[in-house]
Amino acid sequence: MTLTEPSTSATSTPPPQLGGPTLPQRRELVTAIPGPRSIALQQRKSAAVANGVGVALPVFVQAAGGGIVLDVDGNSLIDFGSGIAVTGVGNSAPAVVDAVTRQVAQFTHTCFSITGYEGYVEVAESLNRLTPGDHEKRTALFNSGAEAVENAIKIARHFTRRQAVVAFDHAYHGRTNLTMGLTAKSMPYKSGFGPFAPEIYRAPLSYPFRDGGLSGAEAAARAITQIEKQIGAANLAALIIEPIQGEGGFIVPADGFLPALADWARANDVVFIADEVQTGFARTGAMFASEHEGIVPDLVVTAKGIAGGLPLSAVTGRADIMDSSHVGGLGGTYGGNPLACAAALATIQSYLDDDLAGRAREIETVLRGGLNAIRAADDRVGDVRGRGAMIAIELVDPSTGEPDAALTAAVAHAAHAEGVILLTCGTYGNVIRFLPPLTISDDLLRDGLAVVRKALAAS
Ligand SMILES: *Cc1c(COP(=O)(O)O)cnc(C)c1O
Repeated sequence: MTLTEPSTSATSTPPPQLGGPTLPQRRELVTAIPGPRSIALQQRKSAAVANGVGVALPVFVQAAGGGIVLDVDGNSLIDFGSGIAVTGVGNSAPAVVDAVTRQVAQFTHTCFSITGYEGYVEVAESLNRLTPGDHEKRTALFNSGAEAVENAIKIARHFTRRQAVVAFDHAYHGRTNLTMGLTAKSMPYKSGFGPFAPEIYRAPLSYPFRDGGLSGAEAAARAITQIEKQIGAANLAALIIEPIQGEGGFIVPADGFLPALADWARANDVVFIADEVQTGFARTGAMFASEHEGIVPDLVVTAKGIAGGLPLSAVTGRADIMDSSHVGGLGGTYGGNPLACAAALATIQSYLDDDLAGRAREIETVLRGGLNAIRAADDRVGDVRGRGAMIAIELVDPSTGEPDAALTAAVAHAAHAEGVILLTCGTYGNVIRFLPPLTISDDLLRDGLAVVRKALAAS
């Protein structure tokens, strides 16, 4: 008996094709989506993988690079997802491949809490230098965004000796038990998975498209009043917020909202945690989205874009807060794995050397131009928003402004069929988000936008 499935002619993989930027950068379909090899793999997936692990597109990948994902049937798809804002530097970026290849031949693991290695320290030094604020900082490394969020909360509670934590409407912070509690949306992230952790409270956000035009200051005052009346600042360890909400719908709060919350937190000795897991690393046209409003969070949580696709996450922040935990209170077997650290160092260097924040701003110009033109011709596009290469449209019933989730799903599905990887999000499921790798060409951006325009017109 073999441990792997016998390969059938339908599932045997075509000759190896390497990813990276040399992959031909054009959309090309050679079968229907999904093709026969993907269909066969999808059937094996259904029989072998737990049902709760969903997939947005029914295609299986062979190689990826630049702005293209090549599937196992030979179809070249435009990547408007970056694996959810992970491959900012591109898939199989040569510098990342080189760094990981060198590291994998040296050692793969020691457990940093048994014997250290330079890569971990160097990643910490880089994050301490690059995150907002020039105060003294420390970093701890973990594996996933959710794990880092959990640790940020642990650290804030230990430092303040308080317990309550405030998260916001439409927030997404992960799917572990503590982070499910912080995440706002029930279906699919929380439903049936409780009970959730205690001492988590929710405050209203600034959502300019849907809150009747509250200013940032007004929306912050509303949140602060609710926090003071329902929780009490003296009981509050931390506020956690995404500077631009990701899964919640790419919601950019009104100007002044984040600074007012950060000021209030500072005045009340509440730890202000920016969850930059999706917004971090050049994605929004700055290294971190907190910079757009000049806020300096006490703790910054990073993951997704940090290591070119290898699993790594971090909590970086004020040295007094980060150092408050006793030795052994933070860590884990794999946190700051040497391969992930090597990848992160190459990835971070590439964000800086290639000015990928500047590239994100150019991508914004192309995406906004295309999406505003679509909006001008179609009043079902209620809003175009976001920053940098993190842009979204919100689809509505134009007569009522009600969210149109069915239209959103139809557009995404039609785009998939034409070879564009397009993701939806939003509390109401009516937001289409554009998160291309920062290495995508303008030609692919324009081609993908044309597909979206056609898909919307036909839906
Ligand atoms: C994806 C995400 C997380 C969770 O990260 P995982 O690596 O999936 O655990 C947390 N916060 C935000 C803002 C995210 O986008």
